[in-house]
Amino acid sequence: MSIERQLHKFGGSSLADPECYRRVAHILKEYSSPDDLVVVSAAGKTTNHLIEFLEGLDKDGRLAHEALQAIRQYQSDLIEALLIDHEQQQLLEQLSDEIRALGELTAPLTQAQKAQVLGHGEVWSARLLASLLNQQQLAAINLDARSFLRAEYATQPEVDRGASYPLLKEILAQHSLHRIVITGFMAQDSLGNTVLLGRNGSDYSATIIGALAEVERVTIWSDVAGVYSADPRLVSDACLLPLLRLDEVSELARLAAPVLHSRTLQPVAQSAMDLHLRCSYQPESGSTRIERVLASGRGAKIISSLDDILLIQINFTSGHDFHRLEQDVLERLKRAQLEPLTYEVQSDQHCLRLAYTAEIANGALGYLQEAAIDAEIKLKEGYSLVAAVGAGVTKNAHHCYGFYQQLKSSPVEFISESQSGLSLTAVLRRTNTQTLVTGIHSQLFQAQKRIAVALCGKGNIGSRWLDLFTGQKGELEKRYGMNFELVAVIDSNHYWFDANGIDAASAVAQFDNEAQQHKDNEWIQRLGAIQGFDEAVVLDVTASPELAKSYLDIAEQGLHLISANKVAGSSSSEYYHQVQDSFAKINRHWLYNATVGAGLPINHTVRDLRESGDEIIALSGIFSGTLSWLFQQYDGSIPFAELVDLAWQQGLTEPDPRHDLDGSDVMRKLVILARESGLDIEPESVKVESLVPEELASLSLDDFLDNSQVLSTLLAERLEKAQREDKVLRYVARLEKNGQATVGVEALQKEHALANLLPCDNIFAIESRWYKDNPLVIRGPGAGREVTAGAIQSDLNLLSSLL
Ligand code: ADP
Ligand code: ASP
Ligand code: MG
Repeated sequence: MSIERQLHKFGGSSLADPECYRRVAHILKEYSSPDDLVVVSAAGKTTNHLIEFLEGLDKDGRLAHEALQAIRQYQSDLIEALLIDHEQQQLLEQLSDEIRALGELTAPLTQAQKAQVLGHGEVWSARLLASLLNQQQLAAINLDARSFLRAEYATQPEVDRGASYPLLKEILAQHSLHRIVITGFMAQDSLGNTVLLGRNGSDYSATIIGALAEVERVTIWSDVAGVYSADPRLVSDACLLPLLRLDEVSELARLAAPVLHSRTLQPVAQSAMDLHLRCSYQPESGSTRIERVLASGRGAKIISSLDDILLIQINFTSGHDFHRLEQDVLERLKRAQLEPLTYEVQSDQHCLRLAYTAEIANGALGYLQEAAIDAEIKLKEGYSLVAAVGAGVTKNAHHCYGFYQQLKSSPVEFISESQSGLSLTAVLRRTNTQTLVTGIHSQLFQAQKRIAVALCGKGNIGSRWLDLFTGQKGELEKRYGMNFELVAVIDSNHYWFDANGIDAASAVAQFDNEAQQHKDNEWIQRLGAIQGFDEAVVLDVTASPELAKSYLDIAEQGLHLISANKVAGSSSSEYYHQVQDSFAKINRHWLYNATVGAGLPINHTVRDLRESGDEIIALSGIFSGTLSWLFQQYDGSIPFAELVDLAWQQGLTEPDPRHDLDGSDVMRKLVILARESGLDIEPESVKVESLVPEELASLSLDDFLDNSQVLSTLLAERLEKAQREDKVLRYVARLEKNGQATVGVEALQKEHALANLLPCDNIFAIESRWYKDNPLVIRGPGAGREVTAGAIQSDLNLLSSLL
């Protein structure tokens, strides 16, 4: 036994043209030793062309002739490009003889004759590669596997190891220090007929010959570096899997994934040799190694698909013990090596449906018909199969959910779990499997985390955020490798909840059709109990005090929260700290960047300064876009009340402008910022100057607007006084380190930093130990649906980076 010996298998894709052959020769120079074995398939698509030739013989002699000429051309081009002198001459002559013999065949051919025809591809490539190696001073011989590999014909023939072993041993003994290039795909029966091992069967040849020769390692070289998380031809961002468990690869092969023939792993499992997959185009581009240890498997690793599936439907005559009959059929198929890829049991109909590839289906049907089962058996064409393969897949809730979710609008016949728990398979009427595979692949593998998003408030800002989310979702998902799904939209009376996801683009339009009446914050419970997501986040873009009261429930359900709603942040410090603590305690985040200055990075800056060791000494500014606009315009030419009316008409105020004018909004922002600066502050301790005279406070909106001239009178006097001193009026918020906080109208020098803004701008001046003589100023549009929705999105970004 040679412990060091290795076997290298090169498939059609590695031998497709002269350049490929040269690469293979180079690989053998670099990576093989003199005693190694080499197994080859037919070059390129030669087997397919030989099949066309056979089909031509049955139908139309001219087609057969054309196919044969194309084969001759392709093979002689290879020989001429690769060999020189006598070797070239000799191989061309042999080829000519063989093509002539093939041309003399007439239909009908027996099974064995057909097999012999199809085996030519492998004969030609073994001969050519051996000659090329010799020409490059690597001693090699070419060996027809039929001289030692024994198997009897069957739909899935099995190599007779006992008969093959001594024959191979003898050959190996005769050819030491020669690389032996062996034909894949073929064996011989006891009558001397060719027996084929099935399409892609050279992979199986490689491992069975490797096992018989007791090699240390088999390497399967192809046009890909190994097994990927999906067929890289279908999914461009599939990743190479450097290490796979033997049972996982066996399952992949059993499901007829083209990367490995279905029985390739059988000999590996029964021996001690290693199996590697590598790329003959770029040998150092990575590999897949098959490991024997059964490390714990936590889910799917590969998404596979097949486009040409047939179903054998067995309807048992009723009245019998269906369960026993069905088990019996499955047992018998297994013994005959005709196990289906997957199957469905319909107990109520006494029906068993078995899925097969086109290659095996007829053999299995014939077997079942001969078995004289008391049943009606039908063969149905036109199905596809998709599968998620990996140890633990059937127990991984996220993977199972994703698999079903992606299939929900496909014509699925049935979905089943393999008994081993190694795969989840769906059989569906023939469909575009590429889209499905890509979808499942990205849902299961790309989106490591799934985040459920619930939006409270679908008004001005909420609807703008929905637009933004529709546009940004893809980018966000790519950036963080997460999957975001809008699962609920909530307004003051109704909520719409759908764990399968709500289309953000049509959420507002569909809301009335889909939403149901609130029942004690039921949506919070449902969001807390949602399945198939790793995290859930609530976006509060309302101004609702009721919702602010539910923040503790939201935290209790383990949800994250992003607020534009200022109520909780500016409530009593007791409640504020309670909310903070209840999120912190369970490692959930409460973000509220949008509560002050909309998208301006003010909260963040204040917090960051403090956390970096600075100390905030004072904060001042104009925190209300509405009041900023009003006072910027107010130069005496138009009475203040008329400006209010104008602003109201232009939508620059809250629906009731008193909510801006009473200073409460500015007060709330000041409290939030004070807390962010590290100060303990109660909302009542802020001195607030309201611009709404008491007598107007409780009027209806209309009456207020009709009587608002009182406001003009009140402010006109102050403006005159200010103008006499060459000053302007501004509505300013101030906070001192000692906790003193005021909000109200001030007269400022015209050149004061707070006096010169664009209408609607906010400005924040931060005085700290580091920014003492010259305060840090943040200024810009601090209100409006666009920037506020943007601020929510920015918090969602921040949250994603924290998860
Ligand atoms: P060869 O001709 O060398 O035998 P095959 O064409 O039979 O090669 O197998 C390699 C092909 O298998 C790749 O080109 C790829 O398109 C396909 N394939 C399917 N599924 C996978 C997968 N999960 N990983 C890698 N390759 C795959
Ligand atoms: N040449 C055969 C086929 O095309 C065997 C193989 O490639 O493995 O199926
Ligand atoms: Mg192959």
